[in-house]
Amino acid sequence: MRRYYLLQSTGAIKGLYKRLIKKERPLPPFPKVIQIQTKSGCNARCVFCPNSLVGDQLTHGEMEWDLFTKISDEITQYSLTRISPYLMNEPLLDRNLGEKVRYLADRKRPGTVIKINSNGALLDKEMEEQLIESGLDRINFSVHGIRKGTYESQMVGLKLDMVLENIDAFLELKRKKEPTSPECGSPW
Ligand code: SF4
Repeated sequence: MRRYYLLQSTGAIKGLYKRLIKKERPLPPFPKVIQIQTKSGCNARCVFCPNSLVGDQLTHGEMEWDLFTKISDEITQYSLTRISPYLMNEPLLDRNLGEKVRYLADRKRPGTVIKINSNGALLDKEMEEQLIESGLDRINFSVHGIRKGTYESQMVGLKLDMVLENIDAFLELKRKKEPTSPECGSPW
């Protein structure tokens, strides 16, 4: 894990020591990666995730549009490496996700990647269209298990067959709409 030091509280000599000997970097003036949880909750209860313990107590509230645009307007002033409109939630629960990604995509600086991770279970036709049209740069699908029994004992509440069908349908639509677009790459 990379370590950082505060530029303001470090003199020139100490800064050199931290950079050259301790291999630390000065803390950037603004975060490089930002995640915005636009809607709380998850449709799964994976055994390794806090949602399995607290998910039933969440209200599934959605961030108000004005707050979302206020945050987006501020963060897109900066050169970020990544913006992810989700955090401890399943992003596809937000049925207005495509509109939010489009808002970010229209404002982000060059080089900023907009990325989400999803369990894929809510990837219906409407969401497929939304995401493909939104300007989303990357989507990773979390599939913790290649055997039905393993998967469904870990990702409780989800069905492996349905998730794989959703992902296949999404890729098929993407191939039709963007035949030259790459499908796989770095997980970043
Ligand atoms: S799908 Fe992701 S967010 Fe949802 S319970 Fe599983 S690990 Fe947690």
